[in-house]
Amino acid sequence: DRIARRQDREFAEFRKRLKDNERFKLDDGAFDDATYAAIYKLVEDGYVGAFGGPISTGKEANVYEALDHDGGDVAVKVYRINASNFKQMRGYLEGDPRFEGIRGDKKAVVLSWTRKEFSNLQRAREAGVRVPEPIAVQRNVLVMELIGQEGDAAPTLNDVDVDNPETAYEVVREYIRRLYDAGLVHGDLSEYNLVVYDGELVVIDVGQAVTIHHNKHDEYLRRDCRNVANFFARQGADADPESLYDYVVEN
Ligand code: ADP
Ligand code: MN
Repeated sequence: DRIARRQDREFAEFRKRLKDNERFKLDDGAFDDATYAAIYKLVEDGYVGAFGGPISTGKEANVYEALDHDGGDVAVKVYRINASNFKQMRGYLEGDPRFEGIRGDKKAVVLSWTRKEFSNLQRAREAGVRVPEPIAVQRNVLVMELIGQEGDAAPTLNDVDVDNPETAYEVVREYIRRLYDAGLVHGDLSEYNLVVYDGELVVIDVGQAVTIHHNKHDEYLRRDCRNVANFFARQGADADPESLYDYVVEN
C-alpha cells in the first residue's frame, strides 16, 4: 500500500515534469493520462530516459526525439487516442489475421494500430528492408531507432536533392518487392515516407501497412507503385508505375 502510494506520487511528479516541459506544449493536449502512464512505463522499463523536442506533429501521431537510458538516440511516436480519422484507421486493420476480432472503438483501434506498426517494422526488417529498428511498444506509444542524430533527424526524400535517381529507384523497388514477398503492402509509400540518412534509404510510417489478406491490398500496392515511380520519373529515372508493379508481383 505504501509502495503503491509512493508509485502514485512518483507518477504524478513525472507527469507534471512532462507537462511543464516547454517542448511538450506543442502537443496541444494530445496526451491523456493513460498516455502519460504509458510513457512513464517506458521510462521505468529503461527504454526512454530524457525527452528531446518534437520531430513532427501529425494528424495521427507526434514523433519526438529522446534518449534511452544509455544516452543513445531513439524516436518516440505517440499516437493520438482521439485520432479524428479512426474510422479510416479501422479500415486498414480489416482482414489482418494478427488483429482478428478486436473491438471497433476508437481506443481499441488506435492501440492495435500502434502494435501493428511495431510488428510491421519487425516483419519488414526480417524481410531485409531498411526500417527503423523497433524497440518497444506500450499502449499508444512506439519507441524505435532514431534515423539521424539527436537534434538533427534525417530528412525525407522529398527534402533532398537526389544525386542518383536510378540507383535510389532500384533500392526502393527492391524494398517494395521484399515487403510484398513477406506479405506486406506499405499503403502510404512515397517520397514523404522514405528517410535519407548516411547514404541509405529508410522506409518509415508502416502503421497502415496491410497484409495481402486485406481486400484492398492490390489497390494500395498499385497506388504505392504509382507514387514511387512518378516521383523517380520526375527525378529523371526511367520509371513507370506499371513496370514497377509487374516487377514487384512477378515471382
Ligand atoms: P505521420 O506521417 O503519420 O505523421 P511518420 O511515421 O511518417 O508519421 O513520422 C512523421 C515524421 O517524423 C517523418 O516524416 C519523419 O520526418 C519523422 N520520423 C518518423 N520516424 C522517424 C525515425 N525513426 N527517425 C527519424 N525521423 C523519424
Ligand atoms: Mn509519414
